[in-house]
Order: sequence, then structure tokens, then C-alpha cells
Amino acid sequence: MDLFEYQAHELFARHGVPVPAAHLADDPAAARTAARRLGGAAVVKAQVKAGGRGKAGGVRPAATPDEAQAHAAAVLALTIKGHPVRRVLLAQPVEIEAEFYVSYLLDRAERTFLAIASAEGGMDIEEVAATRPDALARIPVDAEEGVTPQKARQIAEAAGLPAEAEPVLVALWRVFVAEDALLVEVNPLVRTAGGRVLALDGKITLDDNAAVLHPEHAAYAEQDGAPGGGLEAAARAKGLNYVKLDGRVGVIGNGAGLVMSTLDVVARCGADPANFLDIGGGASARVMADGLGVVLGDPDVRAVLVNVFGGITACDAVAEGIVQALAEVELTKPLVVRLDGNNAAAGRAVLAAAAHPLVTQADTMDEAARLAADLANAAPEPAADPPAGTTAGSRPVPAGRQGGR
Ligand code: GDP
Ligand code: MN
Repeated sequence: MDLFEYQAHELFARHGVPVPAAHLADDPAAARTAARRLGGAAVVKAQVKAGGRGKAGGVRPAATPDEAQAHAAAVLALTIKGHPVRRVLLAQPVEIEAEFYVSYLLDRAERTFLAIASAEGGMDIEEVAATRPDALARIPVDAEEGVTPQKARQIAEAAGLPAEAEPVLVALWRVFVAEDALLVEVNPLVRTAGGRVLALDGKITLDDNAAVLHPEHAAYAEQDGAPGGGLEAAARAKGLNYVKLDGRVGVIGNGAGLVMSTLDVVARCGADPANFLDIGGGASARVMADGLGVVLGDPDVRAVLVNVFGGITACDAVAEGIVQALAEVELTKPLVVRLDGNNAAAGRAVLAAAAHPLVTQADTMDEAARLAADLANAAPEPAADPPAGTTAGSRPVPAGRQGGR
């Protein structure tokens, strides 16, 4: 789970990483009050789980509570990289003397933890990495040893960070370990005119596999008002393995390997998948119906592809689940189904008998992906932002286009 900046700041503060004083606001009037509590001036910062907020106009300094209110109104109206801004953080402005970059992450390829640090912090670390890789220090961190004061010195010296940053590097490692994070990133870590080192921004990815150790983290998922987050929570509650992605083709399959291959094939057909959803082995009709309900609840979805290879899973149970789902939710988007393997003929017959006008069957995975991609690409954009968790965002594809290529 990725955290919002304000949540990352909360964990930073808990482990002794200095952060500016800040208050959260979900409307302009609250932003005004928050700025007043901070002494008048404040930086208004969009709370979205996407980078590049600054460039998108989501970080605006305000000199007075009035200005903070006006900025908050403007920022709350933004959608940044597909994420509508629902809350703003009002942070005490700091006088920046230098901006640095630091992150800890799990380097799976090297089977170690890794510290990445740079004296060239600020907005575009990806660009620094691409154009001047030498400006980034990459230092492996041993899991047993962690970031000791000596290690912090090594990282700081390699990256060209000031000595004042070293205790902050140690504290950030405490966050990484104690909270079971997969990523802790600060960009920028700043040195102020007064010589203090503060984390101005913060990104944390928590390890979901450690969630049982951290019941207190559950609150973070609940604070996620974003459509993807809501759907992920709904899917989790139903025991489904669901990950929201950026595209338009909803994908449901059985088995993680098959679903991942399906994502690749959809992408190769020129459309991006809207999600990963694995209904697992031996899935029942109920699981299929739940899965379809979640995917259809995603307003980004323009077409849905169900790709099932029956092994333990019987295709007729999957087909029954689809029919059950059609009775429970009104299907407003085209659905392409490919059933093969165990009881495939029986499954296809169930769907054929249901004869829903928006449901098409395909014989092969390639054919199904091609059809779903074409249907999604041909679907019109929704007229307005639908409320989260509804299916109001999409409409049936004009009949003439349904055949695809
Ligand atoms: P991002 O664009 O999503 O990474 O958002 P950041 O929180 O990193 O903010 C972008 C940039 O805004 C930072 O690199 C800073 O240069 C600037 N910024 C953010 N907060 C402050 C602040 O309190 N004071 C000043 N002077 N600049 C700030
Ligand atoms: Mn940043």
C-alpha cells in the first residue's frame, strides 16, 4: 500500500524524522483555518498518490490565510495523473538552502536493501538518474546491520549530503524497518537557511504482507477515498487478489501467471489493462460474480476480458458466476469471455444460453484480447466524472463496432 504524504509525515514524526508542522484540510475554509494555525503563511500541497505534484500545480506557497484558501480551492479542483485531489496538506513554509534526494528500498535483483541518495534533489530524480547517473549514490544496506551512524556517514559522503543529514538517514531507516516498508523516499530532503535538515516530501510503500503485524496501518487504507483504493478494499474484503492499474480493459483470470500473461497480451493489442484480478484456482460462481462486480465498479473500465483456463476451476462454474453477476449488476460495458479447459463446452453453453447482447465469447486468448482491446479503444469517454464505485461511467459500445477486427 502506498501512503499519502501526510501519512508518511506522521510515520516520519513517530520515528524522529524532522518534518515541517502541517495540517490536513478537505475544503478551502479548513485550509484557511489551518494556515492561520501555522502563523499565516503555508504551502498548500495536493494529497495524491502520484509524483510530480509540483509540476502539475499541486504545490503552491501562500503568504496569508486568504491566499491559502484561494490556493486550496484551486488545488482541490485539480486531477493529477488521474487522481482527483480530495485533500490538501498545509505545511509550514521553510526557507530552503539546498534540496537532496534519499530513498531506501528493497533491491530484489541484488537481494539486498539499497540506499539511493543524491545532492541533486528536488523535482525530477528520474531525470537525474537517466542523464547523470553519477549524481546518484547507490549503497547497499545489509539487513542485519542496517543504517548505523557509520553507514549514514558513508551514504552522506558518497552522495554529497551535509553531515547534518546523517541522523536523519538513521531515523529514516528506523521508519523503513519498524513500519515494514518496501520503500521510503524523501524528495526533497532539505537543509534550511538555519542549518536544519527536514523531510519536505515523503513517500512510503508499506509491505502488505506485513499488514498482520500492523493493525494500526489499516486506518491508512480507510482514509483512501480514491476509487482505486476503495475498489481494492472492496476486493480485499471479498478475498480477491485485485490490483488497480491505469488502463481501460478490465482483466479477470484464474491464476496469477495466466492473468499476468493476459495483461501482456492486452497491452500488445494496443490497450492498457485497468486492473489485475486473479479469481484463483477452484473459483466458485460466487467468486466470479464478486470479481466481475469489482471490475465493473471501476469507472475507468471500458471493456472487460475474462480469460479462464479451467484446471481445478470448472468453466461451467465460471460461466454460472458470470450469469449470476449479470443478474446482480447491470452490465453497461462489453464483456469478452474466453473459456478453455475443464468443462469448457458446458461453460460456453451456459453463456450462449444467457445470450446477453454485451457478452461475446472468443475461442482463443489472443482473439479475446484483441476484441476486448478494440472494444475498449472504441468506447466513448464518459461525459462527466461519475461518483466513485458506480458503473455509471461507461456505456455500451455502438452495435456496429462490436465485432471488432
Ligand atoms: P512533488 O512535486 O510531488 O515531488 O512535491 P514536493 O512536495 O516535493 O514539492 C515540490 C517542490 O516544491 C519541492 O521540491 C520544493 O522545491 C517546493 N516546496 C515544497 N514545500 C516547500 C516549502 O515549504 N518551502 C519552499 N520554499 N519550497 C517548497
Ligand atoms: Mn517531491
